Amino acid sequence: MEIGCIMKSVSESNDDESLFKQPPKNEDCPICFLTIPTLSTGYSFQACCGKVICNGCIRSMFMASNDYLCPFCRAPFIEGESVKSKRLENLIEKKNDGIAGAMFTLGVCYDQGSSGLPQNHAKAIELWNRAGELGNTTAYYNLNITYQHGRGVPMDKKKAKHYMELAAMGGDAMARQNLGLYEIIANNMDRALKHFMIANQGGDDEALESIKKLYMHGYATKKDYEKALLSRQTYLDDIRSNQRDEAAAFDDQLKYY
Ligand SMILES: [Zn+2]
Ligand SMILES: [Zn+2]
Repeated sequence: MEIGCIMKSVSESNDDESLFKQPPKNEDCPICFLTIPTLSTGYSFQACCGKVICNGCIRSMFMASNDYLCPFCRAPFIEGESVKSKRLENLIEKKNDGIAGAMFTLGVCYDQGSSGLPQNHAKAIELWNRAGELGNTTAYYNLNITYQHGRGVPMDKKKAKHYMELAAMGGDAMARQNLGLYEIIANNMDRALKHFMIANQGGDDEALESIKKLYMHGYATKKDYEKALLSRQTYLDDIRSNQRDEAAAFDDQLKYY
């Protein structure tokens, strides 16, 4: 079934109208109700309940209880190779809200051969395709890497780009930024600017700098740059909180922008 899905999605080319359509916004943290940051060190996927929770809330739960409990379902963090993969398999079996995230994370375990699972690229690819179809954009991003580097599959640049586009269309700002960089290499500055503007709005940390460079070289207008500055500010206003700042100040690994 999975092979069929891959073939189908890859043979469909992404037209420009779908490619440049405004992607969906990041979801909200179910504890503090603020937007989940785009930077991956700003949040964690909880294998217990399948929720994506900001690291500000995770750290403040730890400070309040002096224990590593999930801020959403209160499940304890349990050390042990196979606990994580068992929890993920359980989430997938129960088909609850976190199923896409669980498939993605289990795919990472198979890709790396971690959490007590053997390395199995075919299983990782299958899980990432299913996760992507259920809306997990990072799964598509990882499929891009898989085909770009030929990780357990023949190298295929065309497929890699297709998955990068699927990730970007789903709202993955880093994938969007990369598409902009591809367009710079191909000397399509207008298309590059369009991608960077969307990536910047979606919270990518490098997009604003790319837009500034295009402006300095005459490929973007002052108005474009001003609009980009404003949307970066709006993004930061959406994600900033004291407890996220405290987490970031405590550990660089919890940086969220
Ligand atoms: Zn939160
Ligand atoms: Zn939980």
